[in-house]
Amino acid sequence: MPTRQGSIHLFRLFGIDVYLHWAWFLAAAYFVNEARGYSSPVWSVLECLSLFLIVLIHEFGHQLACRQVGGQTSVIVLWPLGGVAYVNPPQRPGAQLWSIAAGPLVNVVLFPILSILFWLGTQMSGPGVAPDWLTFLRNVWVINLVLLIFNMLPIYPLDGGQILRSLLWFVVGRANSLLAASIIGFAGVAVLIGLALLARDFWLGIMCAFILLNCWGGLMQARSLARVANAPRRESFACPNCRTPPPRGAFWRCGRCRQPFDTFETQGVCPHCGVQYSATSCPECGSLRPFSEWESFGQTPPPS
Ligand SMILES: [Zn+2]
Ligand SMILES: [Zn+2]
Ligand SMILES: [Zn+2]
Repeated sequence: MPTRQGSIHLFRLFGIDVYLHWAWFLAAAYFVNEARGYSSPVWSVLECLSLFLIVLIHEFGHQLACRQVGGQTSVIVLWPLGGVAYVNPPQRPGAQLWSIAAGPLVNVVLFPILSILFWLGTQMSGPGVAPDWLTFLRNVWVINLVLLIFNMLPIYPLDGGQILRSLLWFVVGRANSLLAASIIGFAGVAVLIGLALLARDFWLGIMCAFILLNCWGGLMQARSLARVANAPRRESFACPNCRTPPPRGAFWRCGRCRQPFDTFETQGVCPHCGVQYSATSCPECGSLRPFSEWESFGQTPPPS
């Protein structure tokens, strides 16, 4: 995943910061060089900017939908494999589903608009060699459609894979849905790797490596979610955000010594190195809240 490191801040819109990763310029140079069929390179640059704009609106779709369902939104980083919207929707399948689906929906809405523009263009240009602006309209139409189809492949972590995961979540729960989506993702990426090799497609190859890493990450996360879900609960506390009692067990990792420990057992002190933590993250919903905000029920006050 690209981060804000190595990225330049472009602008802030609707309270969301948009960053451009340095590697995007490499991809843009490659893209402009590859774009053919124009009599002037200016149109290749315009095509590249259109791709940039479509990806950007897509990411804003994710961000604004996530905010609508009460999730945290932060930044968008644009990099060669598209955009990454750093969203943290509430840990409910419906909220996740809407936050993910809103991205491809942007491309669905753009489809008739771009179709009409291209159709009007063909009406106006008449017979003969297509002028540059008509080639441009056609290519932008293709770009939007390819992005939509590729994004909707049911391969985790592509949008289609994440939509599949949210739908499965309704049926088999949070951990098992991620497990299933990751395994389906591995099968899907195997097919994509075959295609990338056949077509000798460099970008598809890079994309496959990125998908593989994320599927592996999904698998590991599913395992830890299952461990949390199956752990006995410490009923004397409740998360200030999601009201779930924390699990009993070493589910928190010390930031200094990297050892796992049970923060509710030790009142926020790492038993290995003695660091005191004032805030505790919830393994269920991910929110980080001060230890004192975690409701305690019937606890005897610590001896003074
Ligand atoms: Zn997306
Ligand atoms: Zn919580
Ligand atoms: Zn420690």
